[in-house]
Amino acid sequence: MKKIKAIGLVSGGLDSILAVEIMKEQDINLLALHIINGFDQETMRIRSNTSLDENKVFLDKKTDMSKSLGIDVKIIDISEEFLEILSSPVYGYGKNCNPCIDCKISFFTKARELMSEVGADFVFTGEVLGQRPMSQRKQTMDLIELKSGLKGLLLRPLSARIMAETEIEKKGWVKREFLLDIQGRSRKRQMGMAADFGITDYQAPAGGCILTDENYSRRLKDWFNHNAGKRLTLEDTVLLSVGRHFRLNDDLKIVVGRDESENEYIEKICKEGWLAFVAELPGPTVAVQGDLDERELKRVASVAARYSDAKDSSEVKVIVRRMDNERILTVFPTGDDELDRCRL
Ligand code: SF4
Repeated sequence: MKKIKAIGLVSGGLDSILAVEIMKEQDINLLALHIINGFDQETMRIRSNTSLDENKVFLDKKTDMSKSLGIDVKIIDISEEFLEILSSPVYGYGKNCNPCIDCKISFFTKARELMSEVGADFVFTGEVLGQRPMSQRKQTMDLIELKSGLKGLLLRPLSARIMAETEIEKKGWVKREFLLDIQGRSRKRQMGMAADFGITDYQAPAGGCILTDENYSRRLKDWFNHNAGKRLTLEDTVLLSVGRHFRLNDDLKIVVGRDESENEYIEKICKEGWLAFVAELPGPTVAVQGDLDERELKRVASVAARYSDAKDSSEVKVIVRRMDNERILTVFPTGDDELDRCRL
């Protein structure tokens, strides 16, 4: 008789790791699925580092996850298609720019598609009833299950005993008595279980999703507000996570690198627009997004001076460059009050 096979959606957070551990007690085959939507902090960090090979990092990640979970892991990168979801989520955003319901529907839909591909019978997750305000309320969980086409084929082992019995349990594919009854926001039981299982290496709750971050979301909202009709790209989203951002006016924004790695990324991504660097002294790369006149170009140069080693000087020489057009401007560093007014 064919052995039952289940796909576990794993984020790398403790709950999903525990769900895998619990499912290992059942007599079924397991495969883990890790989906990258491009907004976990680790992926942002990798993509903004010009010296890293993204494919190699993801391959290493797959190996590490497989090793620590003790089962095979498949990684699917949906970053490009997720940009559409992020730009116009059907079910809206959470507290910040996090479209959690649409995001989960897309993740679960991918898991359903993988089910057919690998001949799996159902999907399980580490979700806990009532743990997150937006996506882990009973009604929302039901909606996500329905919209992803997983109705009756989705198990939440950590909360299953306080939820209606699923077809998966009724058919005897898994034993309900091995499942748990965790609910709410407290992490106490999970921490205790982690200690019992000897699990020490896991991500913070919410998987470090940068879309739940207030500062990142403010920058992203600013992008949407000033780029009507334009398609958000992966590079746009990574650039929003890098450096200091200032909106100088409705048509003009600048990005200021904070270290060598950010400077390199900014220079690579923004090579077609104006760039500013302080001459002969350490300082940031400043990239311009939008249109500007001579007065504003000087303003940009002054910001570069402010964040350079010459910030206390009264005259700073700053190189401004656009493709082959390069000049040196002499400017006074911008004051912090002015920067605070336009900081994103
Ligand atoms: S927190 Fe981020 S990754 Fe998690 S469901 Fe929400 S949008 Fe998706």
